[in-house]
Amino acid sequence: APSLCAPLPVLGRDVTVPLVTGGEVAYAALDYAASAPALQRVWDDVAAYAPYYGSVHRGAGYLSQLSTDLFENARRTVAGFLGCREDDQVVFTRSTTDSLNLLAAALPADCQVFVFETEHHASLLPWRDARVTYLDAPRSHREAVETLERALADRDPYGPALVCVTGASNVTGELWPVRELAAAAHAHGARIVLDAAQLAPHHPVSVADLGVDWVAFSGHKLYAPFGSGVLAGRADWLRAAEPYLAGGGASRKVSRRQDGGVDVEWHDSAARHEAGSPNVIGAYAVASACKALTEAGFDTLVAREQHLVRAVRDGLADVPQVRFLSLFGDDAPRVGVLSFVVEGWNSSHFAAALSAEYGIGVRDGLFCAHPLLRTLLGSDPQAQGECGSPESEPGEKSLNAIRVSFGAGTPDEHVERFVRAVK
Ligand code: PMP
Repeated sequence: APSLCAPLPVLGRDVTVPLVTGGEVAYAALDYAASAPALQRVWDDVAAYAPYYGSVHRGAGYLSQLSTDLFENARRTVAGFLGCREDDQVVFTRSTTDSLNLLAAALPADCQVFVFETEHHASLLPWRDARVTYLDAPRSHREAVETLERALADRDPYGPALVCVTGASNVTGELWPVRELAAAAHAHGARIVLDAAQLAPHHPVSVADLGVDWVAFSGHKLYAPFGSGVLAGRADWLRAAEPYLAGGGASRKVSRRQDGGVDVEWHDSAARHEAGSPNVIGAYAVASACKALTEAGFDTLVAREQHLVRAVRDGLADVPQVRFLSLFGDDAPRVGVLSFVVEGWNSSHFAAALSAEYGIGVRDGLFCAHPLLRTLLGSDPQAQGECGSPESEPGEKSLNAIRVSFGAGTPDEHVERFVRAVK
């Protein structure tokens, strides 16, 4: 077997939690897909900078200038991490949700949007005010590309169009054929935005190589703390749009008009969509995480994570009651995110037992991807618990599953304990 790197040091490694059976155990955080623990290195970087932070872009003081430099350097680091093209813009946002809502607010008039029903709600819902076409869940990469091509072939060929697709599913962990979907979009004159919330922490993402027009991700899933995210990509739609938020920082010049109103000239740079005092520590933390992952090397990180995916799959292969969820087949390439149901168990009870009896934190529910879960579970009586999940309506039969997810900080022991506990 290839030698594997050690897990990267993350916050929370020494946290212990009480068990209902008595005693305490080291907490096994196996919910990286929701929020990854921050890398110790990122935390240290932020702590070292914290005494010096100041407001950005306006202050003449030394620390304001230092912070402005660090903020703009963070933008360059993120651009490098994402393999951005020369003219691309990197906008700091609060999260992937924020990034995709920003792009939705910047769509040109009459833009048609195409999105698979399998998306996370953050990529499914922001387009509702546009002319949006929801595409049925495909069952293979080829079907995904063909479904998109068919939909695009029917579209108004002269108007603008945008495709929104996830790089890796937050439910099944499966990779999507992003490069092929981008080629299909461009062949039909459409643009494409990649939701890389689950992809970027696990795989190198290159805007230029994948041929996508924009990419969105969240800092808190990429081993950075704090509420920061990124939208990076083509500048033209962003420049042509009204600012996402109106306010200081986004405006270059504001003047009173003769008629008593105000005229505004907005910035053309990323600042146009960053009104207000930006989250400079968040941006700094994201850049630090980008550097840490690049230095650790994605080859090494991917190899470790695949080793853990295999440990779960092989470890539970002889437990017939466990059924993993997938769109593209059990062996489809995936990141360290796996969802499953267990015969005879309500998923919420099962997840609660993993926590209370084994100190393992997983997630249960519908994972903010209700249409996908209905497609995956709708006909499966095992997934229909007798007690409601938080997402179910009163009286509705609940649908829910269990999700285990891990990443760069996960020690083998956490996954081994998980497999023992499920067994
Ligand atoms: N897209 C995907 C694929 C996700 O997994 C998530 C988070 N679960 C989001 C978007 C939204 O990310 P955030 O909550 O950080 O905005």
